[in-house]
Amino acid sequence: MTQVYNFSSGPAMLPQEVLRRAEQELTNWRGLGTSVMEISHRSKEFIEVAEAAEQDFRDLLKIPANYKVLFCHGGARGQFAAIPGNLLGEATSADYIDGGYWAHSAIKEAEKFCSPNTIDIKTTLDGKRALRPMREWQLNDNAAYVHFCPNETIDGIAIDEEPDFGDKVVVADLSSTILSRPIDVSRYGLIYAGAQKNIGPAGLTLVVVREDLLGKAQRWVPSILDYKVLAENDSMFNTPPTFAWYLSGLVFKWLKEKGGVAEMNKTNQAKADLLYGVIDQSNFYRNEVASANRSRMNVPFQLADAALDKLFLEESQKAGLHALKGHRVVGGMRASIYNAMPLEGVKALTDFMIDFERRHG
Ligand code: PMP
Repeated sequence: MTQVYNFSSGPAMLPQEVLRRAEQELTNWRGLGTSVMEISHRSKEFIEVAEAAEQDFRDLLKIPANYKVLFCHGGARGQFAAIPGNLLGEATSADYIDGGYWAHSAIKEAEKFCSPNTIDIKTTLDGKRALRPMREWQLNDNAAYVHFCPNETIDGIAIDEEPDFGDKVVVADLSSTILSRPIDVSRYGLIYAGAQKNIGPAGLTLVVVREDLLGKAQRWVPSILDYKVLAENDSMFNTPPTFAWYLSGLVFKWLKEKGGVAEMNKTNQAKADLLYGVIDQSNFYRNEVASANRSRMNVPFQLADAALDKLFLEESQKAGLHALKGHRVVGGMRASIYNAMPLEGVKALTDFMIDFERRHG
């Protein structure tokens, strides 16, 4: 079988080593004669898995001791509601930075619970899509927190700066960038991410929240979205997604073996440089994002002649390069190149692109 590289934006490619290990131990986990999916989340064995996963995740992101890590249900969209529900307190408004599709979706959800101050940072630079730098963000005094999305999975646009807004509570949707580069967690009040891109399978959402922000949930917040309830119950107030938790734990071990987030950061830069390099050198492919805001995780690109899109997708699929179709709101192609995508995968893609251009350009 041809080697397959999966460029899906999520659920996304997982490390082969992790999948093989899960396969080996699927039906007889730790010699128990059963799978990890079939045991109680409160069993000694599962608690060990859960605690090890949390510790590895803390080590990888260097999470300070005054932050809780919550293993949640409900995806990142669940957090779009949980965040105002938990963090508004007495306030009726929060600042929401609008830089793309997902930030905008968070605003739409927040409108159900408060009056978000939308701060539109979309702009253009030399005719390319860009985002205003943080020093130009006009934050409001009446805001309970400021929410932003550093990596827009669909638009392929990113904010690499880290926030420095004094004592403002900064909330970040890291769904498509978590663990891809080092971050300074202490600059955030809360970060969150759906697991299905850079962590593990769908069904698990990670929330990292500063302890002093707990205990302010509105009365209407369901208990399973109340951070204090989750923290007090070690994320086991109800049955957590145990298999996703276990598999994410294997991914964290894999990341540590590979040298952690610092090593990932280097490889991710090399992968992005290679792919954007090939796009920029050609008149056949183009990317519409200004270089300072280009995403290293999700690379949208267009073919000069959209009539060739179908052929490009057919041929790339045959060559083992899967899921390159762009999101319907952007069109064209998109290559998602999260941690699990090796440099060789991006090399295979760029070789294919160069060859396709030679034949059809
Ligand atoms: N935020 C970002 C940045 C995303 O990429 C996604 C999913 N593509 C979401 C939020 C929504 O995540 P979920 O499907 O887990 O609710």
